[in-house]
Amino acid sequence: MHEKCPHFINGEWLQPNGAGTPVHNPSTGEVIAECPAGGSAEVNAAIESAATAFPGWMENPPVERARVFFKFKTLLEEHFEDLVLTNTREHGKTLVESRGDVKRGIEMVEFACGIPSLLMGEVLENIARGIDCETIRQPLGVCAGITPFNFPAMVPLWMYPVAIVCGNTFVLKPSEKVPLTAIKIAKLLEKAGLPKGVLNIVHGGREVVDALLTHPKVKAISFVGSTPIAKYIYEVGTKHGKRVQSNGGAKNFVLLMPDADVENSTRGVIEAAFGCAGERCMAGSTAVVVGSAEKTILPTLIEATRRIKVGPTDRDPQPDMGAVITRQHRDRVLQLIDSGVKEGAQVPADGRGVKISEAPNGFYVGATILDHVQPAMTVAKEEIFGPVLNVMHMENLDAAIDLANKSPFGNGASIFTRNGKAAREFKRRINCGMVGINIGVPASMAWFPFNGWNDSFFGDLHMQGKEGVQFFTQQKITTSRWFSYGEGDVWHR
Ligand code: NAD
Repeated sequence: MHEKCPHFINGEWLQPNGAGTPVHNPSTGEVIAECPAGGSAEVNAAIESAATAFPGWMENPPVERARVFFKFKTLLEEHFEDLVLTNTREHGKTLVESRGDVKRGIEMVEFACGIPSLLMGEVLENIARGIDCETIRQPLGVCAGITPFNFPAMVPLWMYPVAIVCGNTFVLKPSEKVPLTAIKIAKLLEKAGLPKGVLNIVHGGREVVDALLTHPKVKAISFVGSTPIAKYIYEVGTKHGKRVQSNGGAKNFVLLMPDADVENSTRGVIEAAFGCAGERCMAGSTAVVVGSAEKTILPTLIEATRRIKVGPTDRDPQPDMGAVITRQHRDRVLQLIDSGVKEGAQVPADGRGVKISEAPNGFYVGATILDHVQPAMTVAKEEIFGPVLNVMHMENLDAAIDLANKSPFGNGASIFTRNGKAAREFKRRINCGMVGINIGVPASMAWFPFNGWNDSFFGDLHMQGKEGVQFFTQQKITTSRWFSYGEGDVWHR
């Protein structure tokens, strides 16, 4: 019998009724847990619990709220390897990649511990004679988060540590594909002393999401996932009067200039394209070889791709790359590679036929390069979200920037070059929110906004950094004047 994931409502871990969806270990294809399909009853109970907890939690001084997260950070560090194993088991990424996922999540908690300084307001004394004006930041109330499968630890931690230290209460709906890491992490926050009802978890799919999006007591929604759903969340959430920050999918370009260092740029592109089996919104999924880089760098890149070892990540020895999340997703990635070939791309590194004898039922796709991809091909237009690198050839930097700027997405883009002027031009002209210079994955850290543009983000205030704090608080401006009544005055002018 495998584990049934409990909902977490009003401080209680509740065993669900009814059937749910299977959670797989992608390395083996085995079912390791069942994620319940919650509905409006669970969502309403979670929101009521969060709404009841809100006034008391808000009254806690910000430094006391932050102190719970200092303890939480210590517990996350103490249970680090256990979280890493759970993460790898349900997601399929390597242990090294899972360590990165959990570490990035802990950095969000570190950021949240410093939030009291960011809650400080501003004062202008004597804005008019005898009148002072000040701002304070107050929490919104009940906030909700909906997260994707690809960073089971980090993405939920982008949301609720910030929301909760700002004084809000929270309902999380984790991805039904990876609920186990989210549950383990929430148990540590409970152990750190978070009062009941401040964080709640409801599992499920669209029914849960729709109930959160339309409930009048939910004030703000944070979403991370694919672009069509991100857009839907933004439209429905804002229509129902909520603040929404909604991160979508991406297709990120990596420009390889003719003067780029071969070894460093190859390493950078391999990590960007095939790290986490390409299941990253910051994956460098299109390499643009500029001019003679097709002769100097591309052959090395192809060789390095062919050497990438794929296999099960839930045991030693560790491979370079793990499986993708589900059987259906593997089939979709394979179909996309086939479509690229049909539409005229070459396949100098072909991961389609990969067989893993020790884990024959795992969801594997080998590292693949599609060369001579053209903008009209399906693989150039759709986010593949697997270990597939498109290669496009351009004559010069201008043409490469124009090509990248035609993408509807706008998460990240990188350039590998030794030329400062080329890097500067690229930084200024590229139409996306996170730029890498000799860095393959320019994902911003907790203290900076996670800064998608275009169809990679819907909303105004991003997650992480000061924008995250602004998103989860509202400003109040007080203008005050005190009259003198004569009697009892301490001074006279
Ligand atoms: P997804 O959009 O399928 O699912 C994300 C969440 O939405 C899940 O919790 C899921 O249960 C829910 N959901 C799915 N379909 C829904 C529907 N029809 N109505 C309401 N809710 C629905 O995404 P995924 O496959 O879990 O994650 C991969 C995607 O996330 C990729 O597109 C990736 O680029 C993106 N992503 C973006 C960022 C970013 O910061 N921009 C970060 C990580 C992942």
